[in-house]
Amino acid sequence: MLNRTQFYINGAWVDPSQANNFNVINPADESICAIISLGSEADTNLAVGAAKNALTTWSVSSKEERIEALEALYSIYKRRWSDMAEAISLEMGAPIDFANSAQAGSGAGHIKTFIKKLKTFEFEKPLGNHALDNRLVLEPKGVCALITPWNWPINQVTLKVIPAIATGCTMVLKPSEIAPLSSMVFAEMIDEAGLPPGVFNLVNGDGLGVGSQLSSHPDVDMVSFTGSTRAGALISHNAADDFKRIGLELGGKGANIIFADADDDAVERGVKHCFNNSGQSCNAPTRMLVESSIYEQAITRAQAVAAQTSVDLPAKKGKHIGPVVSQLQFDKIQSLIQCGIDEKATLVAGGTGKPEGFDNGYYVKPTIFSNVNNQMTIAQTEIFGPVLSMIPFKDEEEAISIANDTCFGLTNYIQTQDIGKAKRVAKRLRSGMVEINGANLEMDAPFGGYKHSGIGREGGVLGLEEFLEVKVISGWE
Ligand code: NAD
Repeated sequence: MLNRTQFYINGAWVDPSQANNFNVINPADESICAIISLGSEADTNLAVGAAKNALTTWSVSSKEERIEALEALYSIYKRRWSDMAEAISLEMGAPIDFANSAQAGSGAGHIKTFIKKLKTFEFEKPLGNHALDNRLVLEPKGVCALITPWNWPINQVTLKVIPAIATGCTMVLKPSEIAPLSSMVFAEMIDEAGLPPGVFNLVNGDGLGVGSQLSSHPDVDMVSFTGSTRAGALISHNAADDFKRIGLELGGKGANIIFADADDDAVERGVKHCFNNSGQSCNAPTRMLVESSIYEQAITRAQAVAAQTSVDLPAKKGKHIGPVVSQLQFDKIQSLIQCGIDEKATLVAGGTGKPEGFDNGYYVKPTIFSNVNNQMTIAQTEIFGPVLSMIPFKDEEEAISIANDTCFGLTNYIQTQDIGKAKRVAKRLRSGMVEINGANLEMDAPFGGYKHSGIGREGGVLGLEEFLEVKVISGWE
């Protein structure tokens, strides 16, 4: 069992001000895999104080200095890639091949992409050719509280920490207490990269403790949060009193609109995408909207894909899915599957209970419901498990209306070979992202949502701008 009870504050690993041990549970077998500490107010204050002190010099550091620090971090990350993948697999149950490729790979991808964007980013420029004497100056927002979840742990950490460093901000990271180990490895990398003390600090803790202390701390200028809509609302309230800047990446209930003229692999692609990461992705396409004329055949195809989806141990190599992260999530998913049955949706794959042979660990059966209508709880609630709802639609207008009939607006998906129709529909979907025919979004594409899916964008140039205040100065020339 790992002992990770220290915090990283002001460039050093330090003991918590008072002991408050917390068990990190391995979702593969429910054993205790590590012990961390939950911080107290004194730890939060120490970390925020260190970040505030460091801001004086880091906020005026040169772009070259920041690029050098990030390039050092990137080469350490590449060297310790497998440590990162193993930590992620252990803490949240991602199968090791997936942890190596997609999970750890997303962290490396963000570091590399932000370095590239930073190299050409202009922190100062004229307002335009018509007003050369009006100078736009982009300045760091200041001390940032970065609060992250467990589902794509290092993806979300790098989407916040890297642009914060790149823009001259200083920060306190509070990773998820459920999956803190990848962030501890990341803090070791930052330590080795030699960032000035206090630029980056890490304090473990829970939402009610360190999380709330950070979001209401008078010396925190910005809170960047990824997680549940519930916590996002609480953080917004806390931050409102002194007008902290906030960035929120919250939940989703993505619609995947499959028209009758979609390519042959559209249904299979959609099911696999929904089950990816055991369904624990905010942008998962969890509502499959299928044109009525191909609805029955889509169900048969989806059923076959579910039957081929194997659930297995995270340590095992291969393309299976692993357990979900915790008992709490397992119970929530089970009760939502039961809710689908009670609401009279038709269960066509999976269901409640664990897959055969998996009594220990939080393993969920890949589950599909057909005959779902969009008013049902399973169509409106973010389940965060491998559970797909299939909903029929009769025409383009109805598909758009069902897709938009949700409080969320993160990612929607369109499958059709009529690109004119795809573009027309894409423009009417109320979401921050739309993916057509399985085309990937680039690493520097802005990630974020409409409505209850959040405020602001992460990644790429817009992700850098999130951490910057805008100043304009006249009389410059
Ligand atoms: P959560 O929102 O409770 O936790 C995410 C992070 O926020 C953790 O670091 C947590 O300690 C912190 N936190 C919680 N309450 C806080 C508060 N009041 N103030 C400050 N920080 C707080 O998420 P969870 O409990 O881990 O998961 C619950 C649900 O959230 C999931 O079922 C899923 O629907 C959703 N979720 C969404 C995403 C996403 O990427 N959009 C990620 C994780 C979870």
